[in-house]
Amino acid sequence: MKFTVVGAGAMGLRYGVLLQAAGNDVDFVDAWEPHVTAMRANGGVYVTRDHEDRHLVPVNVYYPEEYHKQDRDVLIFFLKQMQLSDMLKRCAHFFNDQQYVLTCMNGMGHVDKLLQYFKPQHVIAGTALVATILDGPGEVDFVGKVGAGTMNLANYTEKPDDMTQRVVAELTKGHFNPTLTTNFMGTLMAKVVFNSVVNTLCTLFEITMGEFADYKGADDLARQLVDEAYDVAERMNVTMLNTRQEEMDSINYVSKVANPLHYPSMYQDMTHNRPTEVDYINGYIVKMGQACHYEAKTHAFLTHLVHLAEHTRQQN
Ligand code: NAD
Repeated sequence: MKFTVVGAGAMGLRYGVLLQAAGNDVDFVDAWEPHVTAMRANGGVYVTRDHEDRHLVPVNVYYPEEYHKQDRDVLIFFLKQMQLSDMLKRCAHFFNDQQYVLTCMNGMGHVDKLLQYFKPQHVIAGTALVATILDGPGEVDFVGKVGAGTMNLANYTEKPDDMTQRVVAELTKGHFNPTLTTNFMGTLMAKVVFNSVVNTLCTLFEITMGEFADYKGADDLARQLVDEAYDVAERMNVTMLNTRQEEMDSINYVSKVANPLHYPSMYQDMTHNRPTEVDYINGYIVKMGQACHYEAKTHAFLTHLVHLAEHTRQQN
């Protein structure tokens, strides 16, 4: 299949490089100049696994304005939520009404933006439970061994078609361990809730997921946030993919067993003085709550704390 990855950061590279290795024709479109310059100068991207076995993988990378191919089957979007609107505008000239889009960005907000450019029946979104780090321009680390991590995905219409099955088959060949569901909001919200606990608290306290899980009050902290998010989801008639207890189990498993040494993505943004996606994670739960007259107070408080931390870093 022909894929174009829009956003050749940590996750865009992981998906693109592994889909390319599985035999697909993959292009990358990116706008961060030092990164594109490095990949072009080096003839590809340097990839490591758990910071070992550094090797060069050739990739075709373009700036949005110089990319004009119209023959792509699927566009894969992997940007930070706040980068998406601008990138969609810069890339719109190569979109057409046959293309499908796939995204596993964290948070919520991206789907409404994608629907402004693509048909609802062509939008596939999901969640990726795997960690990847962009170590610097032209350098990416795929955390975990081949086959690490899992992902869930669903059609916006909740009606999988032939193209969706082809995408799932290619993701399977790329060792992403995809599970296709027919519960769009419930699938996406499961990761929003996960991130609203682990990503946010680890970022605020500058700790790994394992260090969070080690704290004896971790379950109580997680439970309060999970309960508040689920209260909102229930009021909004969202059927969550997991029960409350399954969500707690997933938080525990990923933090203790799967990725105990990992600093989540908002921590990485914070430490690089980049804005975090908190408005699309805890902030999204707050906004959902407002729509159903429920005050998600703990999520609102945490959203403020993350912004306070961002603000404090910018002042120093
Ligand atoms: P990323 O920051 O690595 O890359 C996103 C974009 O930002 C790319 O276009 C990249 O070139 C650009 N970029 C990177 N560093 C930059 C800098 N210093 N200045 C300017 N531009 C820069 O993002 P990502 O980790 O690939 O995340 C993409 C989406 O996937 C997000 O929604 C994220 O939350 C989600 N996600 C990430 C992970 C992970 O482990 N990284 C896992 C699951 C989901």
